[in-house]
Amino acid sequence: MREVRIKDTLTGDVVTVDRSAEVGIYACGPTVYSRIHIGNARPFVVFSLLARFLRSEGYRAKLVVNVTDINDKIYVAARQAGEESAAFAERMTRAYFEDTERLGLGRPDAEPLATETISQITKLISDLIEAEHAYESSGDIYFRVRSFAAYGKLSNRRTEDMDQGEEAGSASLKEDSLDFALWKAHKPGEDTFWDSPWGAGRPGWHIECSAMAEAELGPSFAIHGGGSDLVFPHHENEIAQSEAAGRPFARAWMHNGMVETDAEKMSKSEGNIFQLSEALDQYGSEAVVAYLISGHYRQPLAFGPQQMEEAVAQVERLRNFFREHPVRGGESEESPSELVGGDSGEGPSEQQRGGSAGPSPESRREAFRDALADDFNTPRAMAEAFELVGDANRQDVPGPQAAEALAEMLDLVGLGSLTQPDQGAEGDDEAQKLLEKRQEARAAKDFGRADEIRDRLEELGWEVRDSAEGARLVPKG
Ligand SMILES: [Zn+2]
Repeated sequence: MREVRIKDTLTGDVVTVDRSAEVGIYACGPTVYSRIHIGNARPFVVFSLLARFLRSEGYRAKLVVNVTDINDKIYVAARQAGEESAAFAERMTRAYFEDTERLGLGRPDAEPLATETISQITKLISDLIEAEHAYESSGDIYFRVRSFAAYGKLSNRRTEDMDQGEEAGSASLKEDSLDFALWKAHKPGEDTFWDSPWGAGRPGWHIECSAMAEAELGPSFAIHGGGSDLVFPHHENEIAQSEAAGRPFARAWMHNGMVETDAEKMSKSEGNIFQLSEALDQYGSEAVVAYLISGHYRQPLAFGPQQMEEAVAQVERLRNFFREHPVRGGESEESPSELVGGDSGEGPSEQQRGGSAGPSPESRREAFRDALADDFNTPRAMAEAFELVGDANRQDVPGPQAAEALAEMLDLVGLGSLTQPDQGAEGDDEAQKLLEKRQEARAAKDFGRADEIRDRLEELGWEVRDSAEGARLVPKG
């Protein structure tokens, strides 16, 4: 059982995660105004895997990832799509669930929707008005920023550099340009709204997260996460709302760096892979996950076809390792004689008789876990995994032992499916026939039908991967 440490954005200190209580983690999820892109998948992957790792080290973790399904951008996108905004948001929320499901990491423990948290949101706003931290103005409610002395402690900005990024029209309604909206009065053309003590309207973005975090995790919880682009104003405002209302809120903050594209270098067609579903179609879930953990979560991560091809090569290397050294349920399938003699066909080497020259598979596995316990350093952990593959390929360590240790390591970072590289890969006639039908549907540009068939294949346990060479089936992890 390790002591897990993380770097807290708020204090800049490395803090130890408290083992004695439930580790509540709240990570800001997407605003569902379009299909999500690979940048939205980064916090989903990082915090899902952090929760998984904490549990494997004996912590009790609860991961909450919200969905912002009411927002200006949603009104605009729904209008462009000619749909009602509620129906549009529901469709995009479903697409978000489907796209992230394909990552093969399971679901967060709770995935609250803003539209299902309205009563908690209006209660929190009422408390803030009562405490004189918020005020009403023409049906809008604003947070009185200068009434909260600690404002700015997360982002460390000077007040003159703060811009709430709100529409210019609201400026005349605010006491102070620093103030931000908690509730927005209903405007003509906005087809989703609720009644409130202040008239019809809908919540501002920041207050949703304060309310959803408290509803799921209570007023004080271990870790608040999200992309580094949310530090200001979103997270600064969450702190202000919750703490001004007398709730202690998050004890530590973790921010992941942005996924960065070089738009000029990527051709228009390549630009599509920025969408998560397209990247999954083209490269497969393992390569997408391997790519997203290839850099330290706090650093920016460059994205493009080249980085994805590197991730594909990495997962192929791991898959090939398990083709040579099969495991079932983490146990090596190689015979005891191979355990002693290796698979070289020659007698046992010096190291395999016990006089190992380098680190053993077990010590690599421990180093892998140590790296994750040290501010969730996934690139350092994965470097250990590839060192171990190299050790085994050079026969410095016995293949079966390496395979067992590597299987445990990969499972921790959501790549466990690589240990079963060809599970049921052949002989499934039904799946093959469905795949052919899907190709026909695509050729006929009947994409609805093609998607239906893909969903059916997923139910049967197959993932469809499209590439330049055509589509193929891969067993789902
Ligand atoms: Zn949020």
